[in-house]
Order: sequence, then structure tokens, then C-alpha cells
Amino acid sequence: MTLKQRVLKIIEQFDRMYPEADCSLEYRDPLQLMIATQLAAQCTDARVNIVTKDLFQKYRTVEDFANADLEEFEQDIKSTGFYHNKARNIIAACQMLISDFAGNVPSNMEDLLKLPGVGRKTANLVLNDCFGVPGIVVDTHAKRLSNRIGLTDKEDPEKIEYDLMKIIPVESWGRFCHQLVLHGRAICNARKPACGECDIKSFCKYGQKSNI
Ligand code: SF4
Repeated sequence: MTLKQRVLKIIEQFDRMYPEADCSLEYRDPLQLMIATQLAAQCTDARVNIVTKDLFQKYRTVEDFANADLEEFEQDIKSTGFYHNKARNIIAACQMLISDFAGNVPSNMEDLLKLPGVGRKTANLVLNDCFGVPGIVVDTHAKRLSNRIGLTDKEDPEKIEYDLMKIIPVESWGRFCHQLVLHGRAICNARKPACGECDIKSFCKYGQKSNI
């Protein structure tokens, strides 16, 4: 079976297992997703959702974030970790949205990458989930699973993104990445993948070697 054939089988199986795969961060608009994704770096989505529940009540507009007091904002997001950097970047990104983008989150990769704290992962997620622009989101789960399954042999997220773009049909990009996250949480854990219970084992390089 070629790599592309394996990928199509995995997509078929994932669509059966995780038909409603979606972003687990809670947000109402591109601004909130851009902020929630920045907060999710080195933090769980569940923790971020707890923090943003209050945060998005307190700061409702891009101006609210842009004019936030840095120290107060740091305290507001402290439990997500790395809060000095996150606070600085989020406030600076919102200031740039106002100065350069009329207060709106841009809907193209080039402009999104100009925003402080926004890398390709955040940009692809915002493009995919808010603007319907296909993108491959390489988070820690996508990185781990695509290596185990044998879809890439790279460690660098940008190189993984380009490898996946070559073999995954464009219409599946966004959904497939959300499915990788769900599968990573449910079955293919970082410490101990449950290959014996995995429905894509026959199409997975690691699973085929594991004999579990
Ligand atoms: S077979 Fe094992 S390594 Fe492969 S995706 Fe399933 S749990 Fe992960």
C-alpha cells in the first residue's frame, strides 16, 4: 500500500471515529481564537477554556486587549504559564490589529504572521476554523502522531506541515489535524500509545512494528 493509500484509509477511519472533530478551544470570533491559541502554548486547552471564560467577559473588544494594563493582564492569564511573554504578545498583537488592520484579524497567512506571538500553528488554526482557508495545524499531537504513523520523519513543525500538505487531500486538512488531536488524547498518548486498541493500527508504521 502506498503512503497516499494509507492516508486515505486513515482519513476514512478517522471520519468514522471522530466525525465531529473540531477545535477544543472555546471562542466566538477570530480575535478570541487568536488569543486562546496563544494562551494554549505549553498549556492544556481545558485550562485555557477556564481562563478565557472570565477573560473574554472582562476584555470584550480588540481595544480592551490593546489597552490592557500589562501587570493586571499577566495576573488574568497567569495559570496558563509563560504569562509574561503571552501577555506582552497578546497586547502587542491587538495594538497591531488596531494600527495596521483596522481592528480586524487578517484572513491571510502573511499578515497573520506579522502579529506578535502568532506562528504558523496559530495562523493555520485561525485561517481554517474562522475563515475556511485550508491549513495544516501542527501541534504537539499532530507532530507525535504523524511521526509514529509514518506520515513524516521530520521534527520541525513547519517541515511536518509541508510533508502533510503533500499527502493529505486539501479538503481534509483542517478536520484531519483536529482528528489527530482527538486520537492523540484518546489512544495514542505521548507516554504509552495503546496500539492494541487502535483502529488505524494496520495503517500505522509504529503500530505495525509494536506487535501489541
Ligand atoms: S497504532 Fe499505536 S502508534 Fe499508531 S496511531 Fe495507533 S496508538 Fe498511535
